[in-house]
Amino acid sequence: MTMKRHLEGRLSRRDLLAAAAVLGVVSGAGAVASSSAPAGAQTALSPSQALDRLLDGNARYVNGGLTAFNEDLAILKQGTAQKQEPFAAVLSCADSRVPVEIVFDQSIGHVFVCRVAGNIVTPEIIGSLEYGAVVLGTPLILVLGHGGCGAVSATIANKPAPGQITSLFPHIRPAVERAGSHLEAAIKANAMIQADLLRTSSPALSEPVQAGTLKIAAAYYELATGRVSLL
Ligand SMILES: [Zn+2]
Repeated sequence: MTMKRHLEGRLSRRDLLAAAAVLGVVSGAGAVASSSAPAGAQTALSPSQALDRLLDGNARYVNGGLTAFNEDLAILKQGTAQKQEPFAAVLSCADSRVPVEIVFDQSIGHVFVCRVAGNIVTPEIIGSLEYGAVVLGTPLILVLGHGGCGAVSATIANKPAPGQITSLFPHIRPAVERAGSHLEAAIKANAMIQADLLRTSSPALSEPVQAGTLKIAAAYYELATGRVSLL
């Protein structure tokens, strides 16, 4: 009994410490978010420079000249364990053929990545990207659709599916209604629609977009070539 109480005491103290740490982060984030300047502005890149850096990385990937893995250890030594300073945020599909960091030749600490089937915008995704843009200061959010997307394909087919897979369909249906049943066209329309949703459904994102400090773009990743094209 004594031991049990002792353990409970230790756990509860650890929980309190953990809670205090979390509250500290949340409080800090709130302070940054409520300031007039967007972000912690931890990267000095402009939105277009951030986009160029991503696309330059993709060019290295396409040409087989990846460099990111050479720098991992150095970056770790520079202290990414203590902080993160991503220069871009990416919303991509969960598809295993879209490894975002590799596609853009980036390593630890550079890209804030949210992945969900169909690269759809949900409240949780908005909240995550708001954290990336407003708190961490990424000047760019790129919504990345990809060739052969199963979520878009399934939405076009509109057939019964196991579990809660069909809960994805309503998010993607506007793209199918706009682009029709041609898969690539629907995938591209979906990426553009999700980017529009981010621009319009979150004041925390639309304000820096209007101020020119945040860019929200859509792009298409072609599986066969590895090339990312802006939409
Ligand atoms: Zn997909």
